[in-house]
Amino acid sequence: RANEKPVKRSLAKSNAHFRKALTRLPLGVASNFRYWGEDKTIYVKRGKGGRIWDLDDNGYVDYRLGYGPAILGYADPRVDEAARQGMEVGGVFALGTEREYEAACRISRMVPAAELVRFSNSGTEAVMAALRLARGYTGRSGYVILEGGYHGLFDAALWTSDVDNWDPGSKTYPALIPYSQGVPEIGRQLIHQAPMNDADYLEDLFKRRSGEIAAMLMEPIQGNCCAITADPDYVRAVRRLCDQYGVVLIIDEVKSGFRVARGGIQSLMGVKADLCTFAKAMANGYQIAALAGREDIMRRFGRGVAHGGTYTAHSVALAAANKTLEILEETPALETIAGYGLRMQKGMSRILEARGIVHSFSGHPSMGGLFFAEKPPRNYRDWKTSDYSFYDAMAQHLHDQGVLCEPDSREPWFVCEAHDEGCLETTLAGFERAVDLTI
Ligand code: PLP
Repeated sequence: RANEKPVKRSLAKSNAHFRKALTRLPLGVASNFRYWGEDKTIYVKRGKGGRIWDLDDNGYVDYRLGYGPAILGYADPRVDEAARQGMEVGGVFALGTEREYEAACRISRMVPAAELVRFSNSGTEAVMAALRLARGYTGRSGYVILEGGYHGLFDAALWTSDVDNWDPGSKTYPALIPYSQGVPEIGRQLIHQAPMNDADYLEDLFKRRSGEIAAMLMEPIQGNCCAITADPDYVRAVRRLCDQYGVVLIIDEVKSGFRVARGGIQSLMGVKADLCTFAKAMANGYQIAALAGREDIMRRFGRGVAHGGTYTAHSVALAAANKTLEILEETPALETIAGYGLRMQKGMSRILEARGIVHSFSGHPSMGGLFFAEKPPRNYRDWKTSDYSFYDAMAQHLHDQGVLCEPDSREPWFVCEAHDEGCLETTLAGFERAVDLTI
């Protein structure tokens, strides 16, 4: 079977559109992340449920879900109907509405740390506001991120660990480098990097520098980095150290929030953030994010710390958020999603074990990483030592089988409520074939 010729799907219309789009859009797309190469960039015609169709009418069971938002599935009629009602009242008014109070109450009920809530338009904006608030509250400017963490596209967050140029044999940590040209080098003076799952490292850093550090920014499941998962003991140690050294703990739940549990990763790990950020799953794809947290910190908004924005709490997005959160809180949608994720992972394991392929999963069944190593990575450096070239090759074959995962193993597989038995069947049959074509 390994010698069978791969079936290549035609992307002729997407390829032709790419050449046209390139004349008006850098890389032919609206976001750098959507460019997959000249002959591989896909343009979508529509999405419904757990599937999308491209310009060539190729159908895919989609595990990218727009990088996570479509938690109930694309074009969910319940959410879209609510959004239509939001549209009918007029949009944005530069004034408050009752819907924002309704959404804030729902979030506070679901997430114990969310004593007070504010809204933003994207995860980037919410995290940026959280960092500013922590700085306003503490009067300090420094902050800590974890190796491999991604917190959006504002300059202070655009630093990354240079694992590509890091030698796994060395005893040093990867260098911290700007993720983009245009990020001011002077920002390096404020940022500190810490390795995931190493409380001693953090304690030492806080001992030396806590007087300068306003915030610790972390994702206990790194949604952009192999779904690397913090040990609950590590998260509790971070909580304790932040309390001890007066550092504001910001848990970035932009990907995990309202997905891995109704109360997010904080409820699974039994910790309370000082501030937490949400986006993605909270409105099934409509553009809204939230920043929530401790009352004494949040009340600094309006007492010296700036926050706002023309499109903040748009009535369409808010109506979609209220409906999505209602469904996630009051129905077994999240259990359905996790159940599907588990069955998919078990099915994949059966296929891999039958071929003697060592593997493991990280994260949560609703946003899981797949690794060709005995254990999933515990930090970003571990990922470098796993066999991701097998994953990269397999992902390309999977696309030809009508199963869309990110071509880069650092992005998890997202599951939605609309993934059904038909999706699972297509996925496992496609996975088996893709593995055989990769071996
Ligand atoms: N924080 C995390 C953990 C994310 O995964 C992302 C995006 O993927 C962001 C922040 C930024 O969110 P957005 O893309 O909505 O600006």
